Amino acid sequence: MKLTEKLVRKIIEESIPVVEEENKLKTELDDYLVTLWGGFQNGYIHRPKQKFLICPGLIEGKKELKSIMFHEVFHNAQNSNFKDIFELYENLRKYKIVKNLVKKAYSIRCLIEGDATLIERNLSKKYLNYDPYVGVNLELLKNNLDDYHVHGEKILREKFKGNRKDINELYTAPVEELVKIFGGNEK
Ligand SMILES: [Zn+2]
Repeated sequence: MKLTEKLVRKIIEESIPVVEEENKLKTELDDYLVTLWGGFQNGYIHRPKQKFLICPGLIEGKKELKSIMFHEVFHNAQNSNFKDIFELYENLRKYKIVKNLVKKAYSIRCLIEGDATLIERNLSKKYLNYDPYVGVNLELLKNNLDDYHVHGEKILREKFKGNRKDINELYTAPVEELVKIFGGNEK
């Protein structure tokens, strides 16, 4: 597979209705940038302009790319619908050494990344017959930065049974509530 901006755009366009149907939230993707770069992480940045960062070196095939784009397109849906929680997260991140605030930032990140991972896995299984986490050592992941994804998703799946209505309500819940739900694993 030759990874081009055109291919990434095509996959983003195909992902939008699928992601919206799954999470019942609208995306805002009339205009966005796609950047192929040589970094170590794929991602989505919402400011100053919506941008998808894709590392060709990290992606093995089309299935994997599609799966990643479910996750990244969902970040846009989260951001478009729940701007306040992203703003709060950015503010909290500045206070790296105040334990109480670190806990809050950690819990918000667990919700954001855990939910994106939940959507990514559900849609990949449903449409691609693929689970991006099969063969991944979850215990090892838990001990590094990806803890947010693994821990967050586990809670959403186990405590909330993946219930979309209940999960969407968490984005506007008081942050103290999120700390109670996700905060037990903070670093
Ligand atoms: Zn993410």
